Amino acid sequence: MEHNSSNFIRTIIKEDLESGKRDHVMTRFPPEPNGYLHIGHAKSIVINFGLADDFNGKTNLRFDDTNPLKEDQEYVDAIKEDVKWLGYEWEDLRFASDYFEEMYNRAILLIKKGKAYIDDLTADEIREYRGTLKEPGKESPYRGRTIEENLDLFERMRNGEFENGQKVLRAKIDMASPNINLRDPVLYRVAHAAHHNTGDKWCIYPMYAFAHPLEDAIEGITHSLCTTEFEDQRPLYNWVVEECEMEHKPQQIEFGRLNISNTVMSKRKLKQLVDEEFVDGWDDPRLPTISGLRRKGYTPGAIREFVKETGVSKGSGVVDEAMLEHFVREDLKLTAPRTMGVLKPLKIVITNYPEDQVEWLDAEINPENPEMGMRKIPFSREIYVEQDDFMENPPKKYFRLFPGNEVRLKHAYFIKCEEVIKDENGEVVELRCTYDPETKSGSGFTGRKVKGTIHWVDAKHALPAEFRLYEPLILNAEEEAEADTAEETEEKTFLDYVNKNSLEVVQGFIEPNMDDVKPHDKFQFFRHGYFNVDPNHSTKEKPVFNRIVSLKSSFKLK
Ligand code: ATP
Ligand code: MG
Repeated sequence: MEHNSSNFIRTIIKEDLESGKRDHVMTRFPPEPNGYLHIGHAKSIVINFGLADDFNGKTNLRFDDTNPLKEDQEYVDAIKEDVKWLGYEWEDLRFASDYFEEMYNRAILLIKKGKAYIDDLTADEIREYRGTLKEPGKESPYRGRTIEENLDLFERMRNGEFENGQKVLRAKIDMASPNINLRDPVLYRVAHAAHHNTGDKWCIYPMYAFAHPLEDAIEGITHSLCTTEFEDQRPLYNWVVEECEMEHKPQQIEFGRLNISNTVMSKRKLKQLVDEEFVDGWDDPRLPTISGLRRKGYTPGAIREFVKETGVSKGSGVVDEAMLEHFVREDLKLTAPRTMGVLKPLKIVITNYPEDQVEWLDAEINPENPEMGMRKIPFSREIYVEQDDFMENPPKKYFRLFPGNEVRLKHAYFIKCEEVIKDENGEVVELRCTYDPETKSGSGFTGRKVKGTIHWVDAKHALPAEFRLYEPLILNAEEEAEADTAEETEEKTFLDYVNKNSLEVVQGFIEPNMDDVKPHDKFQFFRHGYFNVDPNHSTKEKPVFNRIVSLKSSFKLK
């Protein structure tokens, strides 16, 4: 599809092919089905599928489903949909759970080689015995069990004779290793829990660090790409592949995670926001999930271009969300029809306009893409404009409506504010204006100039619509990240940084030619930005428009 620009992983792959170390490229995208995908995953998807594609290779979608307590079929389905929507086709659809029998047999092989043992220490004791970065660990008193005893206990673990946590299988490596990951890591644990794929067949489950390298090796993955937090696990990854005598030996390569300002990205936190109803499901447009971005109105192309622009490197910085917004504006600029919508309506009566007259004015659908043609907009005696486009006592340099001032109505005429009507509370409820027939848009009128141009819709013909405007979900994201790494006794949690005003819902009006909009249709509302028809809340009578992004940007690509 598209090609990754040069980066260090690409260089490694190229060298491997040139030197004959590999004769093909096989990658995988390995999500754990314990939540929906987010834009960080999109980075991994673009890298894995994109690099394989660049070298005529293939990519599997593999569910790393080794923890039945947190995984669910709902997540499997959502992940498949999101990967497809992003525009990628996997070679094989695989599940780690398909390999449980083989993993079990490889564990037996380790036991037989004296490379693994059953431990009775509790989780807390294991942690205590592990030591620290400065101090070596301590060997478990059960480390010396005979091979026969280990084989017997492992089989009994599988047969369900032990409770959760009562016994584990551990690799026998080196309790004094400077790399803590090599201090006899746990390979298998007991978990009496039904699995979304294997049901009740198993009550022992392999740990990620054991399962992942085996999955890669079984599938013939050549380059196993993951994020840098797994760098310290690479020696263990290689140990597992080696000691389990896997024929195929994948190479693990790490790249830096993607982080974005003003949001949270970990599935644990996203799940909490969903479960505790801070948001309207995993596809809430305020979340950085793929499904949330889709519902907000992001396009797959914008996400792919954004991810590529962030590059592939070992470092992981925080990317400004403005950069993501830049790419969706770019993507929609030539395709989204222009239209006018009034979000917070204020009625205007044009007193010198004939009572029963309606004019159908001509307007371009997209001035940046003239091929999209023209549309008709009705104009008559009563219209709506934005409340914000009127001020009774304006400051200097306010060029929109105020008593005595004249403005241009986009695509129509100049109007002049003659009278302000208020209700009993003193609120402005209506303006009386006059229009100048000479000033019709497109007539070539040059008699005088006005400084403000505002949008409007015709009151009689306009259709009702709901608009949803979004602000960042997380405020002070940097401080939030610090609080997250602080002690658990810390009083603030990331939920304290949730922006209570992240969603504003308003009821307004749109042009009558929009009477047949469909979910995910995208428009640029004049002055307001790009909007997407919400697939969940829109009805025939009243479409709901999610603001994707406003028009202005302070962001400049380097
Ligand atoms: P999280 O920590 O957000 O819950 P995860 O790493 O636990 O995510 P997995 O389902 O294990 O989620 O991830 C699948 C793949 O996506 C892994 O290879 C992982 O490294 C990659 N990935 C996850 N988050 C990011 C990110 N922010 N940037 C780049 N790659 C990511
Ligand atoms: Mg994970």
